[in-house]
Amino acid sequence: MHLLRQTPRLLAAGGSARRFLVPRRRRLHLKYRPEAALYAVEGIRRMGRTALVVPCDIEFLNLPIGFPVDIANAVPALLLADLRGYDSIAFGTVMESAYSVGRARFADYRKRQHFLQYGPMLEAIGMPLHQVTAGISEVGTTRIVSASPYAPVAQSCVRGRPGQPCLNCYKCFRKTLLAAAVSGDEIDPGLADRLARIPEAQAQMRRPWMKHENVLAYATRHYRGGHRVLRLLRRRVRGDSLRVRWMERWYPPAGELLPPHRRAEATEAIGRALLPMRPGQQALAEAWNLGPVLATPAYRNRRDRLIAALEDYS
Ligand SMILES: [Zn+2]
Repeated sequence: MHLLRQTPRLLAAGGSARRFLVPRRRRLHLKYRPEAALYAVEGIRRMGRTALVVPCDIEFLNLPIGFPVDIANAVPALLLADLRGYDSIAFGTVMESAYSVGRARFADYRKRQHFLQYGPMLEAIGMPLHQVTAGISEVGTTRIVSASPYAPVAQSCVRGRPGQPCLNCYKCFRKTLLAAAVSGDEIDPGLADRLARIPEAQAQMRRPWMKHENVLAYATRHYRGGHRVLRLLRRRVRGDSLRVRWMERWYPPAGELLPPHRRAEATEAIGRALLPMRPGQQALAEAWNLGPVLATPAYRNRRDRLIAALEDYS
């Protein structure tokens, strides 16, 4: 189910209220392009799947323009649930978001506000939360997608055209590095230069920690090229020292979150795609904690060196 952002007429280009209601700095959000998502919908339809596109302007309730809460993109599915016989709702929430790996510290999704708040609410209306990818890192989902028939139409960048990610957002930065690590392709120096110049990526590299930092550790683990920024990034996210193979596997406790009537089907499908984490790997995921790391002089030093190298790429 794809929620297609629909701009209200008054706010669209040339619309009479645009100037007053959409501050200049927020107009960036209007640069979102739906083509790649619509291309994916068409592609998976051709492969025999049911895919619906529902135009909706809920994102304009909010400034900056976007979903007022992250599950708001479920609105079309919830409204159509009875008509279409839906009995649960799945999002693409990956382990980094559900369990906070890659952020400051691992947190059990079962005890987090998101699950405690939306779980019972959706359950109460007969659409239980079906977080089928919650126990899979972005590394795992990338491996699943790249080995699937959907690979040619899957694209995470929401600003690019089909088959042409913008290569100018942080998502493109992270996913390009990750895709190269998964496929074993080299990042050539020209592409590395281009990635190093992405303003949003530079902003992330200047932060105390980077969004989905664990994914970057995985992505840079096997980087053997000589690009200065990528080499320093590898050291800064500890791609040279962290154990990362657990990210290729499924976190079994996430199975308990699935609605009982869908659990067997979902865990079987996951099992066909990925191995479960071994107990030691599970412990590694749960031990993710950047707090003590951030305080070490070595980590700060690595970050400072990376930031200094970015000066040549502004
Ligand atoms: Zn992009």
